[in-house]
Amino acid sequence: MALRDALDALSDLLGERLSRSKPDLEAHGRSESHFGLTPPDAVAWPETTAEVQQIVRICARHGVPVVGWGAGTSLEGHALAVRGGVAVDFARMNRVLDVRPEDMDVTVQPGLTRRALEEELRATGLFFPVDPGADASLGGMAATRASGTTTVRYGSMRDNVLGLEVVLADGRVIRTGSRARKSAAGYDLTALMLGSEGTLGLITELTLRLHGRPEAVAAGVAAFPGIGGAVDCVIETIQMGLPMARIEFVDAASAAAFNAHAGTDLPERPHLLVELHGSETGVAEQAELFGALVAEHGGDPFEWSTREEERRHLWRMRHNGYYAIMAAHPGARALVTDICVPISRLAEAVEETQADIAASGMPGPILGHVGDGNFHATLIVRPDHAGDLETAKDLAHRMAERALRLGGTVTGEHGVGMGKTGYMAGEHGEGWAVMGAIKAALDPQGILNPGKLVPGN
Ligand SMILES: Cc1cc2nc3c(=O)[nH]c(=O)nc-3n(C[C@H](O)[C@H](O)[C@H](O)COP(=O)(O)OP(=O)(O)OC[C@H]3O[C@@H](n4cnc5c(N)ncnc54)[C@H](O)[C@@H]3O)c2cc1C
Repeated sequence: MALRDALDALSDLLGERLSRSKPDLEAHGRSESHFGLTPPDAVAWPETTAEVQQIVRICARHGVPVVGWGAGTSLEGHALAVRGGVAVDFARMNRVLDVRPEDMDVTVQPGLTRRALEEELRATGLFFPVDPGADASLGGMAATRASGTTTVRYGSMRDNVLGLEVVLADGRVIRTGSRARKSAAGYDLTALMLGSEGTLGLITELTLRLHGRPEAVAAGVAAFPGIGGAVDCVIETIQMGLPMARIEFVDAASAAAFNAHAGTDLPERPHLLVELHGSETGVAEQAELFGALVAEHGGDPFEWSTREEERRHLWRMRHNGYYAIMAAHPGARALVTDICVPISRLAEAVEETQADIAASGMPGPILGHVGDGNFHATLIVRPDHAGDLETAKDLAHRMAERALRLGGTVTGEHGVGMGKTGYMAGEHGEGWAVMGAIKAALDPQGILNPGKLVPGN
């Protein structure tokens, strides 16, 4: 009854921008990862902050769950409506509102995707660095505190969001942060919202920090005989303070998948893919220093180039890594999991993980943003193989435990969703209860993205 009344009111508000059609519900009930179909009761497409506010108020009045939806690329079942309710899809709130080159910042709506922003900024000489592999929405990226290949140099969403506009569970609209580069004015509500996965509020506007395009960019690849040499090379590179703009690890299985999918001819061995930013002479010097480290760790000669087409090809291949791996296993689903450890423990973490996956017999290519101590395993779950999902979950469980044992985190970037709530007490102790108390204070009815992230949600 409450749901029907809420949907009637939402239908009056939004007209055809509220859908209950099966294809729309199913499209908002799927995720990229292994979770089953979990459709919401309705999908809403707001166009303004005022409409988001109204949607939340109507749902709050009737106790109906509200789940934000960006591009639906999250990997831990974040955006699945596990208790039904309304998926609020931000696709129609996708405008760039204001670019301010003189301050190097931009204000955007949450449904804008990172690639669309990249296009918008092309003529300005500025760029927004955070680049998860998928073409995610900026709202979803803020809600998951996403990072990507350039985080080693430019930081994650944590470092690149200056302020937000947020609709809270009671319909209040707040602005967090400012356009100033720093502030000591009270609690950092921007930081609180980043990574809150839609459990504390719906983000309706973001002000983002931009960076100047470097004068020169070089990119290259180095192949190594084994994982140990590649990872040790990363550790030494970071410890020496070589200013890498990107330093990515791919294992032999990933290299094979790239060859099949992207037409490359990489040796089927572990690789580092790197990018360097600076002046012409600066990148040449950095490339020389990095090449020496590669050689010291037994790698093949480091091949690099400043040609834009070659760079684009390299990073397109890397960003499509997940799809290349999936194409090698037609019909399969994946359990994709990530962990992040202090850089000094990276070699142990990667080597133990690879040995564990190899012993299980399950295909599970490893790649990652190793400059941050972060890596992912894509565990392949075959259709009609009943034991595969359990095997994958066991491997992911041991990865999470390994991360905690080594002083790291159970997720460096994908987030908690419903897949990693089981580790939150282990990682945060009483801190997790504090997160629950914050949630209860801001959303006492528990209508915002229930079933995710915090205790008792
Ligand atoms: C191939 C592939 C590669 C990936 N690589 C990376 C990577 O390198 N780094 C990385 O960090 N992640 C990566 N991811 C995961 C994913 O892309 C990120 O988590 C991304 O930030 C999710 O954005 P989205 O727009 O798809 O959000 P969605 O999946 O739509 O939503 C994610 C969460 O945010 C909430 N949400 C969405 N919009 C809003 C809003 N406006 N206000 C409040 N809450 C909202 C949702 O309710 C949900 O809890 C990858 C995923 C894939 C499929």
